[in-house]
Amino acid sequence: MPQEAVFAYIIAYLLVFVFGAVIGSFVNVLICRLPQGRSFVRGRSACPTCGHQLAARDLAPLLSWLLLRRRCRYCGATISARYALVELLGGALACLTVAVYGFTWTAAAVFALLAGLLAVAFIDLDTMTIPNGLVLYLMIPTTALVWLLPGINWLSHGIGLFIVSLPLFLLALFFGGFGMGDVKLMAVCGLALGWRLTLLAFLIGLALGAIYAVYLLLWRRADRRTAFAFGPYLCLGVASALLFGTAIVDWYGNLLFAA
Ligand SMILES: [Zn+2]
Repeated sequence: MPQEAVFAYIIAYLLVFVFGAVIGSFVNVLICRLPQGRSFVRGRSACPTCGHQLAARDLAPLLSWLLLRRRCRYCGATISARYALVELLGGALACLTVAVYGFTWTAAAVFALLAGLLAVAFIDLDTMTIPNGLVLYLMIPTTALVWLLPGINWLSHGIGLFIVSLPLFLLALFFGGFGMGDVKLMAVCGLALGWRLTLLAFLIGLALGAIYAVYLLLWRRADRRTAFAFGPYLCLGVASALLFGTAIVDWYGNLLFAA
């Protein structure tokens, strides 16, 4: 690649990262305010410790956190690293989306879905619930995605709607363990992914959740009745399937049929 092209490439990804980090900063606002039922469009951001309103210079994603040495400018309270982590994840997810889907409308829809999942994951982690408003929001990029996919297989995406959500619904109804939020999440994401990738997403989520559960049981002295938010693992599974699913299915298919 000529040097100018490499330079343009780096600048493009830098801009994509900044855009993703800004969206991540908005996701932080959702994570903080949605569970409290506060408006996420009105009202300025304030320090959670001293309540001082934050100025524009305090709100630059990642940069403010680093420049202020992880402390509030006004009261000196430590600012949780999680704000920076969510912004970092926003930037990284935006770069990954562009790397996989290019600068396309499909990439825009995929990233809109990923940003929603980022909010779902952290809110479920905090509150053990997935707000209905967020699930409704996920319908927008899902509809766009289904619309944008060339030669879409409606049957596959229709089955995707039910293939994980229906068994989860029955489990939640008769045994508990999963919440109705997980059911709705897997219905919407199933529609976006089609049945193959939905199963893959669920298996990845289940595997990661199981690893964490074993870790909890062995090292954290949790017992088997300790409540456990499964949403974040489902979100991780869906995100992996969205970004790498086709590659994984192809690789596995080759593995199966190679011998
Ligand atoms: Zn403060």
